[in-house]
Amino acid sequence: MFLRKSLPRLFACLFLLVPALGSGILAQSTVNKAVGSASAVQDDPDFARAVKEWTTKPEFISPLVDHLPKVSGIPSPKDILGHHIGEPKKLTYYADILKYYRALAAATPRVKVVTIGKSNEGRDLVVVFVGGDESIRNLEAYRGYLAQLADPRTVTDAQANDVIGKAKPIYHLSGGLHSGEVGPSEMLMELAYRLATEDSALIKQIRDTVIVSITPVADPDGRDRNVDWYYKYGINETEGRTTGAGVPYWGKYVFHDDNRDINYSQVEMRALLDWYLQWHPPIMHDLHQAQTLLYTFSGQAPQNPNLDPILYGELPAMANFEMSQMTKYGMPGVWTHGFVDMWSPGYLAFMSSNHNGMVRMYEIQGFSGANTQKMRLGNPNGTGANGVGGAAPAGGGRGAGAPADAAAAVAGRGSQATRDWFRPLPATGEFDWSIRNNTNYGETGVLTALQYTSQFPKIILENFYVKSRNSVATGRKETVAGYVIPAGQRDMTRVERLINLLRLQGIEVGRAAAEVKLSEGTFPAGSFIVKRDQPYSRLAKTLLEKQVYPDANLRTYDDTSWTMGLMSHAEVKEIADKKILDLTVEPIKTAEIHLAGTLTGSGPTIAVAHNGSNNMITLRYRLKDLAIQAAEKEFKQGDVTFPAGSFVIAGDAARVRTEVEKLGLTAVALPSAPQVPLHALDLPRLAIYSIWGNTQEIGWVRYGLDRFEVPYDLIFKERVKKGDLRGSYDLILLPNQGGSGKRLVFDIENRGQPIAYKKSDQFKNLGIYGESDDITGGMGLDGVVEFEKFVKGGGVLVTLGTASYFPAEFGLAPKVDAARTSAQFYAPGPIVNAEILKPEHPIFYGYDKKMVPVRYANGPLLSVQTGVNPFADGPPPPGPPPTPQSVLMRYPGGDDQVLSGLMRGAAEIRNRAAIVDEPSGKGRVIMFAGNPCYRWQNFGEFNMLFNTVLNFNDIKTEAPKPATTDTPAR
Ligand SMILES: [Zn+2]
Repeated sequence: MFLRKSLPRLFACLFLLVPALGSGILAQSTVNKAVGSASAVQDDPDFARAVKEWTTKPEFISPLVDHLPKVSGIPSPKDILGHHIGEPKKLTYYADILKYYRALAAATPRVKVVTIGKSNEGRDLVVVFVGGDESIRNLEAYRGYLAQLADPRTVTDAQANDVIGKAKPIYHLSGGLHSGEVGPSEMLMELAYRLATEDSALIKQIRDTVIVSITPVADPDGRDRNVDWYYKYGINETEGRTTGAGVPYWGKYVFHDDNRDINYSQVEMRALLDWYLQWHPPIMHDLHQAQTLLYTFSGQAPQNPNLDPILYGELPAMANFEMSQMTKYGMPGVWTHGFVDMWSPGYLAFMSSNHNGMVRMYEIQGFSGANTQKMRLGNPNGTGANGVGGAAPAGGGRGAGAPADAAAAVAGRGSQATRDWFRPLPATGEFDWSIRNNTNYGETGVLTALQYTSQFPKIILENFYVKSRNSVATGRKETVAGYVIPAGQRDMTRVERLINLLRLQGIEVGRAAAEVKLSEGTFPAGSFIVKRDQPYSRLAKTLLEKQVYPDANLRTYDDTSWTMGLMSHAEVKEIADKKILDLTVEPIKTAEIHLAGTLTGSGPTIAVAHNGSNNMITLRYRLKDLAIQAAEKEFKQGDVTFPAGSFVIAGDAARVRTEVEKLGLTAVALPSAPQVPLHALDLPRLAIYSIWGNTQEIGWVRYGLDRFEVPYDLIFKERVKKGDLRGSYDLILLPNQGGSGKRLVFDIENRGQPIAYKKSDQFKNLGIYGESDDITGGMGLDGVVEFEKFVKGGGVLVTLGTASYFPAEFGLAPKVDAARTSAQFYAPGPIVNAEILKPEHPIFYGYDKKMVPVRYANGPLLSVQTGVNPFADGPPPPGPPPTPQSVLMRYPGGDDQVLSGLMRGAAEIRNRAAIVDEPSGKGRVIMFAGNPCYRWQNFGEFNMLFNTVLNFNDIKTEAPKPATTDTPAR
């Protein structure tokens, strides 16, 4: 007790004694100025009493957070919210969180709130700055200093040294990216108040030397929905009696994948990126909760080799400091190293490392609500087999989707109660865990990180500068000097998107003023040039190169590959010739480029070339009232080739021109219709089916269709069970979901009580995107029968990824078998070759190569029975088995077909079907083993799905055509 009570004073002394270690080759330290005199601010006894009561064991708190100042005129969280942070069974809605920060900002010059955008559902996105009076008054000046350090081409080393002398690091903290991880967004309010009001030596030092910026809730829509769900269901849950169901939606489209949104598709993520590129915080620290009791990220292997080696020293340095400080406070269960790796650049806070800063991350023990719950951990000397890790109750933590499995595999979940070199003081035994414990751990950790930063502010800034400077230098030092993205590619719309995604992340791209001759080839004028002598050259390489996974025995937390050219089916040429750095280019100054389409020629009929652009479907829907046909064979007009699938449009040339130009397509007006077979491009009545228990992958497909302006109904078991699907729909799409046919059919297990997802006056955020009186139980066998009637009656059922188990396992496609890979097989998102076997099939309109790169999605291993009786006596016929007619595309398999990333056991997929088109009754089932609409990423594959939609009733096989063939466009 004596030690704990005297700690704050001890630390105050330490700060006086510790010399300024922050000076380096460039910097002059100002650390010592920070240490102030004894506190004149009174603490709030009510806070200390409450927090002591809510903290379930004395070792679950630190001297940094067991007190809180009470300052007249400055509202504490309790003054606005009515309770202290960490009160059991209390969660705060986003509007109240904003209300608190705005009240705080109104009361003190040390806090400022800036609005950076709107969420999907219209909530304000904000960043809260906290710092000394002077820092906040001069924020613009501090922003300017960081901008100079972020682009070393603007300064000499001597000038940078001056800038570092004046600058302060911005340390960015973010909570609530994952809506079920509720604690950090509560904690950050208390942190902001403490930083603004407390007068201890530590807080004064932080306030004077560091500017703290805060994203209070990264996904505010999901926050409110999860808080509603907690108050409706979670608050009544007790151990052993849970509803077994989480809230069906967080954000509008995704759950955990807002932390895998590598192309910043979601508006909330994009707003933060835009803010980042203006403010350049050298550290971005994302606060999650899924591990016991606090895991601090240190960038373990596999590590992205493009990032500056300095970063790989910085990360464990800070993590180890936190671990040792918190261990000194007696807080068990603080650890590092053994969880998340440093491979994928797609995590949200990774935007910092991608731009020469530092990504940091915690996983703090917590639940999706604010109930106090029992935890049992293994014995410290055992194998850890009894440990339950950071297991959160249903609906919380990382509940949704495959990443949970990957996480468990990486973490070795059972081991968290075991002592190791990276976990010196594990938590063990049985104890209660409260949301205040979560606050104590999170806030102590963050204050410790800020302590480190305030001890070494100049080192942090100097490293930021040197990493940026090194990044510029890589272009001349390293083998890869740049990239050329040639002009004149078949489909420039996907090139345009690729360029815009690079620009979105601040990567400089120029256009070659003249033809470019390099050792790698000659490229036409107008080609896009990415030079590697720029501040974000490392990021450019990371995004554009082929990913070579360093060690097939290492597991990773997310995808192993993301190569943009392969994902987009666009040509990107890696260049070693250093001449690229001296090319004259016209820099793209705008945030986005737009490559306008063209309509040439004259005549009453307009042909639009289908070169694989995803914008073709947008054109069709924008002109939905016009009769549009697809050419079934290639034709030429002048020097323009119109591949099969090209549109033939009669009438309204002015409107067609406008849209063709906007959508970047190539069109020619013809004197008469081409002499090739044509079919009408009717628009299907389209539905997307979703289970209730796993809506994220469906969300990505919804997002893709929304962006390309394809309307659809989102339907659930409620609609299926009503029957007559055929009366309402022509095509039903089942995105990747459930993981198995059984899970797709039976979904969330019913535990005795119906679980409704419905809006009410009290719970306004529920019942959005769909509603149900009971989300449990799935569509059941009655639903399977309705899907069978739909197909037999002429409907088209399209299944993606793991949803393709459903028709195989439930007899909708009886000739198709769906198997699983072995336990040794491991393929976290590699890009592999797929071979098109039926190039004339409308699904492949716009593709001109037999072999195409696709993202491997760990769907079923599909095979189609060939009619050979496997039980017949005698040897099989000689030669390879015939490929069934219904297999449209297959995976050649084998290591040499892996184009980027890791596939361990690549022979297991050899010659397995990638797409199957099985006629059934009057309809058909089209099964994709892969996922042609994965996140906002594999744009080269989207078109296969879009072609399926546009040609749903024009697929010619031995089966009868669906009944609605060639009806007028709807
Ligand atoms: Zn998380």
